[in-house]
Amino acid sequence: MPNPNYNPDTRRPILSVRNLHRTYKSGEGTLTVLNGADIDIFPGEMIGLVGPSGSGKSTLLHAAGLLEKPDAGQVYINGRECLKLSDNERTSIRRQSIGMVYQFHHLLREFTALDNVAIPQMIAGKSQAAARAEAKRLLTIVGLEHRLDHTPSQMSGGEQQRVAISRAIANRPQVLLGDEPTGNLDPATSTRVFQSLLTLTRQEGFSALVATHNMELTQFMDRVLTVRDGMIVSVSSKTAPRAPITY
Ligand code: ADP
Ligand code: MG
Repeated sequence: MPNPNYNPDTRRPILSVRNLHRTYKSGEGTLTVLNGADIDIFPGEMIGLVGPSGSGKSTLLHAAGLLEKPDAGQVYINGRECLKLSDNERTSIRRQSIGMVYQFHHLLREFTALDNVAIPQMIAGKSQAAARAEAKRLLTIVGLEHRLDHTPSQMSGGEQQRVAISRAIANRPQVLLGDEPTGNLDPATSTRVFQSLLTLTRQEGFSALVATHNMELTQFMDRVLTVRDGMIVSVSSKTAPRAPITY
């Protein structure tokens, strides 16, 4: 599927991480997980993040998503450095700009698919009618128009993840960060869920950075970043190479 949002003249990334460092103390020693990682996410891109288990993908996604502070480095969202901001400011930027999806759906069990996607919008201030209409629209795009009134336990694992993805983008973040969102699914379901994510990315015009173990899925990505030894060690790209952005 071509990427209608890709624009080689758009030089400004939506989200950049620079020189991220993160060390965990463990027993007697320390474990260096991030050791100078750099990433630029440009508008409309679908980027894969691959690397062996334990290589630091989740740590990197949590730092990029402003959920955890690294020991050093910078995270720029729309050109603004966020790690220097107050906790409140950072939380507010995270809520506006970042959507997260995990390996497990974390849906509200007693609520329907429609409610799960509508509730975060209502918390953000939208009317119930508008939130439910948007939830229905998003769930229809991911092929769940026949599951609107089902609770999570009445849906398959793949359907639950498609609801979780719709919920993650319901407040129109600019970047979706996925931490192995298909990691708990069989290969066929994994491909179906990923296609939903790709369709939403393309149609709704946001960017995504998705950690995955599934190399089949990387063929659909615009770029694939490989993380090893705490750094991005290789980049494969279907789009034109771009000069690194200097802040
Ligand atoms: P990945 O997502 O690529 O599997 P992670 O970012 O989860 O990698 O973890 C990278 C390394 O950091 C692993 O060795 C993991 O055990 C370690 N690690 C992650 N979180 C913590 C923590 N809170 N405390 C100590 N070590 C951690
Ligand atoms: Mg992980």
